[in-house]
Amino acid sequence: MNVNGFDAAAGALAQAVQAQRLAQRLRGLAAHGGVPTGGVARQALTHEELAARRWLAQDFAARPGYRVGIDAAANVYVRRCGVDAGAAPVMTGSHVDTQPLGGWLDGAFGVVAGLEVFDALDSLGVATRRPLDVVMWTNEEGSRFAPGLMGAVSFTDPQRLADFLPVADSAGVAFETARDQAVTDFETHAQRLGWSWMDRPLGAPVHAYVEAHIEQGPVLEAQGLQVGCVTAIQGVRWYRVSVPGRSAHAGTTPLANRDDAQAKAIAMAHAVLGHARDCGDERMRVTIGRWECLPGSINTIADHVSFTVDARHPDAQALDAVRTVMDAALPDGAHIEVLQDKPTVQFAPDLVALATAGCEALGMRHRQMLSGAFHDAMPMAGFCPTAMLFAPSIAGVSHHPAEDTPIEDLAACTQVLAWCLLKLAEPAPAST
Ligand SMILES: [Zn+2]
Repeated sequence: MNVNGFDAAAGALAQAVQAQRLAQRLRGLAAHGGVPTGGVARQALTHEELAARRWLAQDFAARPGYRVGIDAAANVYVRRCGVDAGAAPVMTGSHVDTQPLGGWLDGAFGVVAGLEVFDALDSLGVATRRPLDVVMWTNEEGSRFAPGLMGAVSFTDPQRLADFLPVADSAGVAFETARDQAVTDFETHAQRLGWSWMDRPLGAPVHAYVEAHIEQGPVLEAQGLQVGCVTAIQGVRWYRVSVPGRSAHAGTTPLANRDDAQAKAIAMAHAVLGHARDCGDERMRVTIGRWECLPGSINTIADHVSFTVDARHPDAQALDAVRTVMDAALPDGAHIEVLQDKPTVQFAPDLVALATAGCEALGMRHRQMLSGAFHDAMPMAGFCPTAMLFAPSIAGVSHHPAEDTPIEDLAACTQVLAWCLLKLAEPAPAST
C-alpha cells in the first residue's frame, strides 16, 4: 500500500473539512424519518430510507466528475471519479438505515463524513488518481430483515445474496421485493434527473475501505479523546445453557431431597460471571441476557432452567477460558448449545497505522481501540484492506433517540478520514 508522501495535501484537505456543512447535512438526513418526539425511524429500504439515499446522492450526482450507482443488493454508491479510470476505488461510507427508533448518527455519520470529504476535495479542486466511492450499505441494522449486514455481506460474498432474498419483514414483505423496489426507485430517479450512471457489480475490486462511525460506547468521551483508531472487531460467542431438575413442592421437600434446576443454574451463572469479574482483563465481556425458568411457579421447585451467555473478547484463548469455566461448572445432566461463534476480525495493520498517523499529523487526541459492535467493515475486512475511525458518543448512548456527539468531535473524525482517504486515493494533477 503506497501511502508515503502527500502529507501536505492531506493536511490541507483536512483543514477544508467544514463542521457547519457536516452538521447541516446530518440534520437534513435526520429529517428523513425524523420523529417529532425525538429520534429517527428509517428502517432498511423503507420509503424514508429510499428518500434519504436519493437526497444524499443528489447534491453530488449533478456535479461534473461524479457518478452514482446501485448494485444487486441495493447498496448505493456515489463516486468521485479519479484520473486513473481503471484503478480500483478507495471506499468509505456506512449505512443510513436505523433501528425501529434510533438516533441521528449511527451509520448516518459515516456516510455524511464521506460526502463531506467530497465537498472538501471539490472546494480545493483536488483530483485523485484513484476513484473515491461513498457507499450506503443496505440493511446494516437487521431490525427489518434479519440478519443485519446484508448489503456488505452480499458485496463481499455475492453468493450470499440468494440466502437473503426470501427473508421477509414482519409485514411479510420479502427482502427481494424491497430490494427490487429500491433499485427501480433509484434508477428511475437518476434517469429522470440525468445523473451520470455507473454499474457497480457485487464483488467489484476495492483498493481499501475506511469507515467512520460513532463509538456507541463510553470510552473515548470518558478519556477526553476525539478519535478512536479501531484495530479489530472483537470475537463473540453465544451459548444457551439448559439445566434440568425435578419439580416438587416448595414447602414439603427438604433441601437434601431436591433436584433444583434453579439452584444449579444460579451456581453455574455465578461461576461464569465470577470468572469475568476476577480474570483481571478489562477487555472481557460476559453477559447473561436471557433467563427462563419452568414451570415458573412461586411455590414449585424448577424442573428446567435455560439461560444465555454472550462472551466477547479479542483473543480466542480468553473466550476458550470462558468455555472451560462453563464446562467445569456444568451441572449433571445439563448441556451447552453454541448459538453463534464469530471470531475476532482484525483490521489491516497498515490502515490502522495510517489512521493513527493521521491523528498525529492533525494533532487529534486519539487512541487505538476495539469495536464492541458489528459494523459493515466486518465483512469488508475479509475482502480488502479495511479500518474504522470512531467518534465519541456522549455517555456511550446509541440505538436510542438520545444518541449524540458534539459536532466538533464529528468534524475531527471527518478530518482524519479525509487525511486517510487522500493518502490512499493519491492526489493527482487535475485534468483540464
Ligand atoms: Zn451502525
